[in-house]
Amino acid sequence: MNVTHLECANCGLRHEARRLHNLCSSCGKPLLVRYDLKQAARTLTKESLSGRRADLWRYREVLPVDADENIVSLGEGWTPLLHADRLGKQLGLTKLYIKDESQNPTQSFKARGMAAAVSMAKELGAQKLAVPSAGNAAGALAAYAARAGMEAFIFMPRDTPRANIIECEQTGAHVTLMDGLITDCGAEVARRKEAEGWFDVSTLKEPYRVEGKKTLGYELAEQLNWELPDVIIYPTGGGTGLIGMWKAFDEMEQMGWIGSQRPKMVTVQAAGCAPIVRAFETGQRFADEFPNAVTAAAGLRVPKAIGDFLILDAIRASGGTALAVTDEELISATGEIGATEGIFCAPEGAACLPALKQLMTTGMVTANDCVVLFNTGSGVKYLECFSH
Ligand SMILES: *Cc1c(COP(=O)(O)O)cnc(C)c1O
Ligand SMILES: [Zn+2]
Repeated sequence: MNVTHLECANCGLRHEARRLHNLCSSCGKPLLVRYDLKQAARTLTKESLSGRRADLWRYREVLPVDADENIVSLGEGWTPLLHADRLGKQLGLTKLYIKDESQNPTQSFKARGMAAAVSMAKELGAQKLAVPSAGNAAGALAAYAARAGMEAFIFMPRDTPRANIIECEQTGAHVTLMDGLITDCGAEVARRKEAEGWFDVSTLKEPYRVEGKKTLGYELAEQLNWELPDVIIYPTGGGTGLIGMWKAFDEMEQMGWIGSQRPKMVTVQAAGCAPIVRAFETGQRFADEFPNAVTAAAGLRVPKAIGDFLILDAIRASGGTALAVTDEELISATGEIGATEGIFCAPEGAACLPALKQLMTTGMVTANDCVVLFNTGSGVKYLECFSH
């Protein structure tokens, strides 16, 4: 709405806003949307938010869609930030919260990104959308494409959770199952997209999914009455949500809503696929592809993320960290969170709990810290993980 241009997150090259783009035309890295935030802040004020619609479009002035009629919505965003009182007591934390993203359409936070990406694809004239996905991005794209009257072409690993495959079929997408990982699916989309006329909506390979996901940062601030938490624990695959929140904090600071203080940003990955953890530990800015990636937490099975440097920059600038947990730990954490708080987490979201325990052991989290765990999806999509 108040978009001025797109900017390469790596080399800074400016790209024109009102046309379809994938990556930077010069260096091939992600493009980020830039706004006239002074203009946005004229009508988007903290006070103006009360009474606005209870979805992510409440932050309309800092979202990229120009014309209201292009918004494709299923009611995404504005999910509850639940005080985890009982779990917190067990751990010795009074201010433990769970941002429950399982309450989004299609039961994961991928809905935020796809709502923005599909709306922009509609506005800019794309007709056929393609995506490689570990599961939830596929379900979200299929749903939003159907809602927009567009075609979705979805490429998933054959061992993707069954619920994701079925929901895509039932929402009218063209589904291709592949032997291999999400990176192999991505290569297939890249190979065929030109001839097929597909617009590639891979995460961070188009500029708008991160805009949808950045609303996580706006919501956190608003729900905590404009005090950011001390620590954010985020299950990281492609890193779009973390990168988005970090961008949102900057935008809010520029609009005068918050100060320069930032939460410690903590990336959690599965021990079987931890490229960001490895790069963090070895001091690299770009992460090597993680070999033989395996984890039941499908959304974390991303051996190579194109936004790796943005994730690592944010973690380091915030004084946060990156750590890995085993599949055994994250599956068992699902039951622990479920039984104490009544939230049936996705295994990715549950991974935040063993990570939090590690942070308490090392002293990065202490008793009075305000800590937010991200439950990024619903356990209902992953029944295979819980069968005995
Ligand atoms: C995709 C996904 C993630 C990882 O999100 P990124 O923003 O790509 O890091 C985590 N949890 C679930 C449930 C997901 O679907
Ligand atoms: Zn560039």
